[in-house]
Amino acid sequence: MAHEARELAEFDYVVVGAGSAGCVLAARLSEDADRSVLLLEAGPREATADIATPYNWPALWGTEVDHGYTTVPQAGVGGLTLVCPRGRTLGGSSAINAMVFLRGHRADYDGWAALGCAGWAYDDVLPYFRRMETVPGKDPAYRGDAGPLRPAPVDPALANPLSAAFVEAATATGHPYSDDFNGARQEGAGWPDLTISGGARQSAADAYLLPALATRDNLTVSTDSRAYRLLFDDDRCTGVEYLRDGAPQRAYPRAEVVVCAGAVDSPRLLLLSGVGPADELRQAGVEVRHDLPGVGRNLHDHPLCGLVFAVDRPVPAPRTNMSEAALHWRSDPSLPGADMQLMFIHIPYCPPTMTPPEHAFTLGVTTVPRSRGSVRLADADPASAPLIDPGYLRDEDDVRRLLHGVEVAREVAAAAPFAKWGAREALPGASASATELRAFLTAATGPYFHLAGSCAMGVGEDAVVGPDLRVRGLAGLRVADASVMPTIVSVNTNAAALMIGEKAADLVRAAG
Ligand SMILES: Cc1cc2nc3c(=O)[nH]c(=O)nc-3n(C[C@H](O)[C@H](O)[C@H](O)COP(=O)(O)OP(=O)(O)OC[C@H]3O[C@@H](n4cnc5c(N)ncnc54)[C@H](O)[C@@H]3O)c2cc1C
Repeated sequence: MAHEARELAEFDYVVVGAGSAGCVLAARLSEDADRSVLLLEAGPREATADIATPYNWPALWGTEVDHGYTTVPQAGVGGLTLVCPRGRTLGGSSAINAMVFLRGHRADYDGWAALGCAGWAYDDVLPYFRRMETVPGKDPAYRGDAGPLRPAPVDPALANPLSAAFVEAATATGHPYSDDFNGARQEGAGWPDLTISGGARQSAADAYLLPALATRDNLTVSTDSRAYRLLFDDDRCTGVEYLRDGAPQRAYPRAEVVVCAGAVDSPRLLLLSGVGPADELRQAGVEVRHDLPGVGRNLHDHPLCGLVFAVDRPVPAPRTNMSEAALHWRSDPSLPGADMQLMFIHIPYCPPTMTPPEHAFTLGVTTVPRSRGSVRLADADPASAPLIDPGYLRDEDDVRRLLHGVEVAREVAAAAPFAKWGAREALPGASASATELRAFLTAATGPYFHLAGSCAMGVGEDAVVGPDLRVRGLAGLRVADASVMPTIVSVNTNAAALMIGEKAADLVRAAG
């Protein structure tokens, strides 16, 4: 960086990244009028892309609100390089996501606690899930009544008739009906909540950040401000160096820095600052400040494979979202919770190399992956693209469970409610041999955009943060976003990322 950095007035907290977790954290911390918060966001404040229109989300990829990353070639899916959209504006990925709002199974969080993450069992985090939302008419033991988010299933008057056929078909094949996936019964078929309110997307910025900004002068948001280095005094993080409109600046919090830059950019910022696996840092030409082997490791995402079914008449166009209905179940009854999801998508969803029929819907099959990958630096230049390897289908057990998911999808698609639509499997096709089906999985499996785990919370040598979200071995620094999940939740990750922001706020406040 050629210019001398401008030094910014002190704040109590500097939060890096205004995404799902960062918006929650900055809004909650600034509730204390005597505390000041600086929130840095790499992306623009006023986005030109149409974020609010729910069914528009795939059109946001590659626009100014997407970091526009790609993965390294993925050996498990035919060596392909895959898209890796990540939100880049206020709200982060919650501003470009598909708006499905699911907490997951109680066992997801109990599993974190069993790994040593004290305070993260479902009963511990339930108050944070309740705190984030206002959901009238549901079981108050599970659902909140005073939070800023207003998640709800699709309005039945606007629901796609094929979504309804999916829920009927899944229950007709023996799956229970769940009237609230975020309530007492996570498993079964039903209508997930969506972060859509009044017909428009409700991102974390809409729900938390913008209302706080409108009324508080102790909250400062600096957009077009990309952090590229953490500053240290011995083992204490003292500040952040960032580029604002091309000029370097520094901010020094009185209390601490919290990195909320997401599962790609949180480990990337730590690595650029010399915090990470020492050998890997040296290879990238970065001076080692703190050898922390887990940084950037353990990256994972749900693998998503779409089975496309032709129908005999046009599918009504999306009026809200393309994903309105889902099914969750266990691939093995001895598991503590669901590890499988079918997401109903009422458009054809397949790679560009395949030609779907004109009138079609998709059953998106996914599972909780065993495969693991990494985020690494190509070199020491903060401008170089990160090397993102989610490791899709690296572990053959993921393939086995996806094949099980394909069987369940086929049973559901063969049920009477879909017969009325003349549904027949088009991709890969009912006559596909086992070899052809395996080849289809390789060709058609791609990202579900739920990257997690790359700054994993835990207590072992590979943990990056402890259960208090502090970076192990350093003072004044925490990470709070999807990267801290030690294992991905069994469902779409936004609600869990928001919960992490909520709990982080209490952890930070408790430190005084
Ligand atoms: C296309 C897509 C569809 C998805 N669909 C769903 C869905 O339907 N349901 C669901 O539950 N989940 C979905 N997800 C996943 C979910 O949105 C994410 O898991 C969640 O938003 C992650 O939150 P986060 O706080 O970890 O990171 P993010 O929300 O990604 O926030 C990170 C923020 O940090 C900023 N940033 C990054 N680097 C820097 C830096 N160096 N300096 C300053 N700022 C920086 C980014 O610009 C961004 O604003 C989807 C994601 C995508 C991309």
